[in-house]
Amino acid sequence: MSQPLTRSTGLERPGSSCDQVLVAEDDPMFRKILKSWLENWGYRVIVAEDGTAAWNILQQERPPELLILDWVMPGIDGLELCRRIRERQTTPYQYILLVTAKDDAEDVVTGLEAGADDHLTKPFDRSELRARLRVGRRILTLQKGLIQAREELRFQATHDIPTGIWNRGALLDLLQREIERASRSQSPTGLLMLDLDHFKKVNDTYGHLAGDVVLREVARRISEVVRSYDLVGRYGGEEFLVVLPSCDKIQALQSAERIRSVIAERPVLAAGAEILVTASIGVTVTTGSTVAEKEILAIADTALYQAKSAGRNCTAAL
Ligand code: GH3
Ligand code: MG
Ligand code: MG
Ligand code: MG
Repeated sequence: MSQPLTRSTGLERPGSSCDQVLVAEDDPMFRKILKSWLENWGYRVIVAEDGTAAWNILQQERPPELLILDWVMPGIDGLELCRRIRERQTTPYQYILLVTAKDDAEDVVTGLEAGADDHLTKPFDRSELRARLRVGRRILTLQKGLIQAREELRFQATHDIPTGIWNRGALLDLLQREIERASRSQSPTGLLMLDLDHFKKVNDTYGHLAGDVVLREVARRISEVVRSYDLVGRYGGEEFLVVLPSCDKIQALQSAERIRSVIAERPVLAAGAEILVTASIGVTVTTGSTVAEKEILAIADTALYQAKSAGRNCTAAL
């Protein structure tokens, strides 16, 4: 993590979404003061005159993540807001500073248990509010880093990094899920198994790095010509799989033909050369009933073998 968590001056990352603060306060005078302090400190302030207005703001897309909520307000009060916010369990997390004249221990406990992260008793010191908001930002910044790292790991675990498409494991999971979904709705699923022709020769002639460029370009071209909800993955070295949800045999063959021709129609530029590649494609379609993933893969593999035997740069269906 490049940002030190103990940093205590100014905003860590001005312009990021957690420099936005929602202030829900029914007292107009106090609202005005809070707004001017916060703006002086560099926050972008959104004000709500009561709990209902605050709740409406929180329904918007990308709502503020740092919230200053007054406890006592007409309509939905700060405590109820805390409860509602926590019930939704949305990501990213919202950091709540509950502000109130209530200051006995029992009230503080009630506020924290309703979902507040911190508590400040009115009247409070300006610099204390500033410091407590920094604590909130620290937590939110830390959270952002964790979410980013989790997303990155999730991507790496499910994608083939060189080509950016699904990796074998993820695609086989998706295929199984798609077969189950399709069998519930009795709709067919298409499966294409694609293998580049004489790819060893590409490596031998132009080098392995040029071969990698070709694989990336092939993945890109396949993704370009399929429907947005079709699933494209790398099955092995120079083998690709395409899962076609709700797709009958005619449509699957059309899709395979589009893919075959977009690969063969123009050379790939790599290592200063124009490299022509072709692919053979095995096509199969489930009947809509439950079928083991291994079974349908074996059928697609047999179809692919037939396409290879028929002379390559063609499709075969079973
Ligand atoms: P066929 O038409 O029968 O499929 O012939 P082929 O040469 O494509 O098949 P073969 O299985 O003999 O060779 C596959 C080649 O793919 C050999 C291997 O080095 C290459 N290959 C596999 N993965 C990668 C990769 O990630 N990058 C590169 N550059 N080459 C790869
Ligand atoms: Mg109030
Ligand atoms: Mg192969
Ligand atoms: Mg091959």
